[in-house]
Amino acid sequence: ERTEQSILRVSNLEKRFGGIVAVDGASFEIERETITGLIGPNGAGKSTAFNLITGVYKPDGGSVYFQGEDVTELRPNQLVDRGLVRTFQLSRELAGMTVLENMLLAFGEQLGESLWRSILPGARRSVVHQERELLDRAWEILELFELDHLAHEDAANLSGGQRKLLELSRALLTEPSLLLLDEPMAGVNPTLEKKLLARLHELRSQGYTFLIVEHDMDVIMNNCETVIVMHQGQVLSRGSPEAIQEDERVIDAYLGG
Ligand code: ADP
Ligand code: MG
Repeated sequence: ERTEQSILRVSNLEKRFGGIVAVDGASFEIERETITGLIGPNGAGKSTAFNLITGVYKPDGGSVYFQGEDVTELRPNQLVDRGLVRTFQLSRELAGMTVLENMLLAFGEQLGESLWRSILPGARRSVVHQERELLDRAWEILELFELDHLAHEDAANLSGGQRKLLELSRALLTEPSLLLLDEPMAGVNPTLEKKLLARLHELRSQGYTFLIVEHDMDVIMNNCETVIVMHQGQVLSRGSPEAIQEDERVIDAYLGG
């Protein structure tokens, strides 16, 4: 039963690094089937918040609720099992492997046993059959992002923008319900950016939810239903792009640093 409107809720989240308070009592909610933007000046705590939500860091205080469940103590792979996934930058080691191999490797790395089973219902089916389904989905996603013609290409030969698409494709293969994207448009050319955004909107209308950290304000303001603004580890403001752009506190935070 999912009566909660929000897919994710963080409450009084705190994270310190020595004397630095990176996240200082942040609370916010992400509504289902939205593209929500997380913005704020450098050092505001956005990346730390991402790492807290996805289990990379343990918070010093506060809680993370996903689909109504307290997931604060869970590890990243346990969160992936539940459908909470972030994109990871392709590491150098993965060059030398093809685009398709990168997809399948990500699946093995990120997933725990339980998702492997839940994702492919009817556990009696043969492993061969299951691998077939996984491969079919990998191809579908590569087609969606127009990477299918590059499937057997060394991932090292991809452009910066294509690498971003592959990062997103890898995350999508795990069938997440909430995807956290850290600067998905960095290094992506305008043509590819338009396509990528169109895909995000399609996926959103199919039931996916996105939380995006992005420096490009036009991307945020033109594509997000809701924008959350962090400043000095706290949530300064949350609202529609229109409301955020007129919020004096937000303007001050960006101008005042
Ligand atoms: P943003 O992503 O909004 O730029 P961050 O979450 O990266 O902000 O950083 C928030 C604050 O925490 C900054 O002052 C940053 O220097 C500090 N910080 C982030 N990560 C670490 C870390 N691993 N060790 C020490 N300080 C950190
Ligand atoms: Mg950051």
